[in-house]
Amino acid sequence: MSAKIINGKEISAKVRAQLAEEVRKLEEEQGTTPGLAVVIVGDDPASRVYVNNKKKDCAEVGIYSEEYALPAETTQEELIALIDKLNSKTDIDGILVQLPLPKHLDEKAVIERISPDKDVDAFHAQNVGKIMIGDYKFLPCTPAGVMELIRECGIDVCGKECVVIGRSNIVGKPMAMLLLHSNGTVTICHSRTKDLKEVCRRADILVVAIGRANFVTADMVKEGAVVIDVGMNRLEDGKLCGDVDFEAVKEVAGHITPVPGGVGPMTRLMLLKNTIAAAAR
Ligand code: NAP
Repeated sequence: MSAKIINGKEISAKVRAQLAEEVRKLEEEQGTTPGLAVVIVGDDPASRVYVNNKKKDCAEVGIYSEEYALPAETTQEELIALIDKLNSKTDIDGILVQLPLPKHLDEKAVIERISPDKDVDAFHAQNVGKIMIGDYKFLPCTPAGVMELIRECGIDVCGKECVVIGRSNIVGKPMAMLLLHSNGTVTICHSRTKDLKEVCRRADILVVAIGRANFVTADMVKEGAVVIDVGMNRLEDGKLCGDVDFEAVKEVAGHITPVPGGVGPMTRLMLLKNTIAAAAR
């Protein structure tokens, strides 16, 4: 039997409406409009698309946004000065610096300069630490989006075998933490994992965040498993595809996310959710 497709677009439309309502309430009850500043350095086309989407997402739920587009030759000092200015700007609740930055800039130092109270990407070490102990200031966007998808499908993580492939700081590690905090039994896999296929076949919930097109094949998936594909890979023909061989795996899995239209739309919304949370505080 073919898997149930987890429709990220449909679920995100529902969540978007809830967020718009939260913004409306904040304005009514506290006289506050959440504000997000988006900083982009250089002219990377993919980053430009992401920034445009973020501004559009903000407008859709009533969040005020400002864009700071800086030239590629911006110095570390200039960028830090802008972060300092945004840290003290009272109409700005969240600051997002679009990554990657041009090579001559120190990304880590820039992230650490953002006030932890405005770090809506949850990349600051202080917020990463909070994720570890389960006392969230801000949700890590992609993993939080995945958790919402799992919840919306009525799947209880408690006691389940969860396997995460990928251990990046922005996806794999925080993903594992959120599953753990939901009482899943979590295994994290990476490029040095032995017997990856066997480990994956144990999973009731398999989250894949590698960055390699169609890497997870049907023989790596247990019958009826929930398969969440975080991967976003651009094929030679320009099409977007995930890390999971969708057509084959959907014949084995119980639930599966498509790419596009699965995790991506939810990730975008979690940034808005964090901005609203920052404004509410
Ligand atoms: P990343 O930093 O490159 O990490 C990739 C991870 O995959 C690493 O931990 C790596 O292991 C592991 N890996 C690589 N080859 C492997 C193999 N053969 N077997 C097992 N593990 C392997 O990537 P990322 O930033 O986490 O992103 C992962 C994917 O998700 C990318 O396609 C990215 O575009 C996508 N993404 C999507 C969203 C969304 O909203 N949908 C958001 C963020 C990222 P090592 O640590 O051992 O090298």
